Amino acid sequence: MPHRSLWLDEALSPDEPAAIPLEGAARADVAIMGGGYAGLWTAIRIKEREPSCDVVVLEQDICGGGASGRNGGFALSEWAKLGTLVQVCGRDNALAVAKQFEDAVDDVGAFCEQHGIDAHYHRGGHLWTATSQAQLGAWDGVMKTCRELGVMPFEEWSAEETARRSGSDRHIAGLFEPTAAILQPALLVRGLRRVALALGVRIHEGTRVTRLDRRAPAVLHTPRGVVTADRVVVATNAWAVGLRELHNRLAVISSDIVTTAPMPDRLRELGWTGHECISDSKLQISYYRTTDDGRIVYGKGGWGIALHDRIGPRFDRDEGRAREVTRAMHEVYPTIADVPIAADWCGPIDRTRTGLPIFGHLGGRNHIVYGVGFSGNGVAPCVVGGRILASLALGSADEWSASPLVDGTQGRFPPEPVRFLGAHVVREGVARKEEAETLGRTPSRIAVALAKLAPAGMIPKKDE
Ligand SMILES: Cc1cc2nc3c(=O)[nH]c(=O)nc-3n(C[C@H](O)[C@H](O)[C@H](O)COP(=O)(O)OP(=O)(O)OC[C@H]3O[C@@H](n4cnc5c(N)ncnc54)[C@H](O)[C@@H]3O)c2cc1C
Repeated sequence: MPHRSLWLDEALSPDEPAAIPLEGAARADVAIMGGGYAGLWTAIRIKEREPSCDVVVLEQDICGGGASGRNGGFALSEWAKLGTLVQVCGRDNALAVAKQFEDAVDDVGAFCEQHGIDAHYHRGGHLWTATSQAQLGAWDGVMKTCRELGVMPFEEWSAEETARRSGSDRHIAGLFEPTAAILQPALLVRGLRRVALALGVRIHEGTRVTRLDRRAPAVLHTPRGVVTADRVVVATNAWAVGLRELHNRLAVISSDIVTTAPMPDRLRELGWTGHECISDSKLQISYYRTTDDGRIVYGKGGWGIALHDRIGPRFDRDEGRAREVTRAMHEVYPTIADVPIAADWCGPIDRTRTGLPIFGHLGGRNHIVYGVGFSGNGVAPCVVGGRILASLALGSADEWSASPLVDGTQGRFPPEPVRFLGAHVVREGVARKEEAETLGRTPSRIAVALAKLAPAGMIPKKDE
């Protein structure tokens, strides 16, 4: 069994019906590859709109075994990428799309409430910070775009307020976005699974699609069965890099997480009690939040890089990287260095060139649609993704199928091995530059030059 996140260990209940792998031949109106947020939201939206539609979800592991059961649990809008949205969608559409992503944060909370999913949802806002002089001004471009477009989803905080609310004076500036929430991600994905089953969706876990026959109707081959389906939805996140049509549109990098043991008294001493989720302005971003039982969960993106479509065990856990993440956490919260680390894990991120998700028709085929590339921000955006994919799968002409994120041109990565080797070199440059800046030193010229190549899309960052 793969290494699991603490979230998933907490969420898996012995009362849940066992996963039943597909055996033999089956038929479906819609077959969905992938049982994470994207696949399950899509299944639920289809059944809400067309209860008679026969939907089957094929998941290679268990629902939530991928990124949806392992992430940091930040439910964020995409306002921080407004400039990119303008480039991709045009000025007028950008605002409408950004509003859809903003609404998605509340949609998650409302859905949990409606269906009795206790996913520890708290709308405490997101604090985007600077932890070194070099990071000051990181949000100037986004703020300028917001002002130009006449919206202001952020509040600028003083250094004192930022340090007080975040519990660390390593934060020397802060931009607060009230529309953000934290949640326990695996409780959400397992809750979605429960709702989907109740709506009549057939879910086969332990069922990897080994081959997708793209003719119409499509045939999905699995180790012990086949599904013939009129429509197919590809919602396989980073694993979609294995499909030839999407290979150069995604780069797979790791995001690594550690969590402390519960320490509610220490959080109270720090003064970090408002459920804020926090990230810094590094290219190799650090992100952190608290939990209901008083832990700090601390993550860092962009260290591991996949070659071709090889997403091996080092995308489940990497002890060396976990030690680096722990070190980064102790730089920001030095007073908790004595608190034991309770767990660590990691997962793959499906990075696109723009950092925005991509939706569309696979190879232009009307009956096979995809929604991938959430680029490390999928908890809330997958709500939008589910609506878009449901409309595409049902063939509905509406605001979701007409989204400018559908069938757009959002750029490609270079082919392998250039992509793999280039990403490693850039990552080293970024790491050295940011390490020097954290220590208050001047980074070398070569590190700065290499880090400048990062916006080519290898490393997660905000607006580009
Ligand atoms: C460590 C980490 C931290 C993150 N933190 C955050 C965060 O704080 N906030 C945020 O918004 N986002 C975060 N993300 C990103 C977020 O988790 C994802 O964007 C989101 O879960 C994507 O949902 P998904 O359904 O597309 O992917 P997944 O949940 O990965 O679902 C895809 C599923 O497809 C299955 N699959 C793959 N190939 C096949 C196949 N051939 N046949 C059958 N099944 C297959 C996989 O097993 C997987 O379960 C983080 C990601 C990671 C890894």
